[in-house]
Amino acid sequence: MSSDPASFDAIILGAGGAGLMCAAVAGQRGRRVLLIDHADQAGRKILISGGGRCNFTNTGAVPERFLSANPHFAKSALRRYRPEDFIALVDRHRIAWHEKTLGQLFCDGSARQIVHLLMEECAKGGVRISLGKAIADVAHADGLFRVRYGDAAATAPALVIATGGPSIPKLGATGFAYELARRFGLKIVEPRPALVPLTLGGEDVLFRELSGVSAEVIARAGKTVFREAALFTHRGLSGPAILQISSYWRHGEEVGIDFLPDSAADWAVAAKRARPRTHFHTLLAELLPDRLAEALAKKIGLWGELANLPDAKLAAAARRLADWRFRPNGTEGFAKAEVTAGGISTAELSSQTMAARRVPGLYAIGEAVDVTGWLGGYNFQWAWASGWAAGQVL
Ligand SMILES: Cc1cc2nc3c(=O)[nH]c(=O)nc-3n(C[C@H](O)[C@H](O)[C@H](O)COP(=O)(O)OP(=O)(O)OC[C@H]3O[C@@H](n4cnc5c(N)ncnc54)[C@H](O)[C@@H]3O)c2cc1C
Repeated sequence: MSSDPASFDAIILGAGGAGLMCAAVAGQRGRRVLLIDHADQAGRKILISGGGRCNFTNTGAVPERFLSANPHFAKSALRRYRPEDFIALVDRHRIAWHEKTLGQLFCDGSARQIVHLLMEECAKGGVRISLGKAIADVAHADGLFRVRYGDAAATAPALVIATGGPSIPKLGATGFAYELARRFGLKIVEPRPALVPLTLGGEDVLFRELSGVSAEVIARAGKTVFREAALFTHRGLSGPAILQISSYWRHGEEVGIDFLPDSAADWAVAAKRARPRTHFHTLLAELLPDRLAEALAKKIGLWGELANLPDAKLAAAARRLADWRFRPNGTEGFAKAEVTAGGISTAELSSQTMAARRVPGLYAIGEAVDVTGWLGGYNFQWAWASGWAAGQVL
């Protein structure tokens, strides 16, 4: 091991979206920055994101679309570094992009272009990057942080925790951020898998037979609703509507699904008047995928021609289909969660700079912090914005 640790102005732990942005910004402000990651490659989550095309931001990234114990915390950073700022950066790098749906912006080509952009920005700022070396130790004394990594060591008066959350461990994700934060006395809001498929048990296991079937629905958890596609899987429920709602869902709660979001409340009774000879399940199959229509009709227990079914039963069936209750028995966990909700408590941090209030020189950014965005480019926008905010002051 080298005896004299190299000296920097800031050491950033974690070369994901947040760490890379922070390093580039601080480096371009003339700071001597060391960026360390145990993975062999920077930005691994960026590379696989958005189906390989990276949904790099969302034009609707307003603070209300982020979850946190303190819903106001993200406002300042999101206001100061906006989607248009990242779009301008993407344009400067001549990366072609398109809006897919709901304000979600993707690369036309490959997510690799975003990693390349960030690496180039880091190079412009003279950032030293160390990949593939494990962090052995982090110490703090006399106003300096000292980090041992691989066979090297470095010191700096500023240390940024940017090692993300534990979602998808096989991509190198760890709970290191929390471990480190706790060591410095920072509180953690209990981490939980978010943007994650929900699992079904009990009577609902029957729905697993629908694996692969999807439909546009309105999904609800508590007061929160999302209208998007839901997908049945061999373990339960997935698809964008379910992933979105999973971030709000808590164990033991029900999830409500409106399978017919475009149908008027009296659609079934109205159909009986108009087409009395039609069978209930045939009617349902006009509105929903066949297998789903059949399963729901069976569960409701209404068979036969509409003419033979009482209005009250049809009205009750319509109400049930508009608010079908599932009680998931869990989620598919961190192994499948796109993000981690919870994390380093925002109460410990300055919303302007991401600096820890009680530990001078310590910062936390990105997914490691208790700020979690919706599905659709929001989480990268938080990574960029929080990384930028800290990068301004290092
Ligand atoms: C499959 C998938 C697809 C996604 N798609 C999108 C999308 O299209 N749009 C979107 O907005 N969000 C998406 N997300 C979420 C997004 O990737 C994250 O919110 C974002 O990457 C968080 O950035 P970060 O820099 O805070 O953390 P990360 O990107 O997780 O980076 C943390 C870095 O720290 C390193 N690290 C971890 N532990 C240690 C340790 N002990 N020592 C050293 N280094 C360590 C990791 O190797 C990693 O490089 C997706 C997530 C997944 C899993």
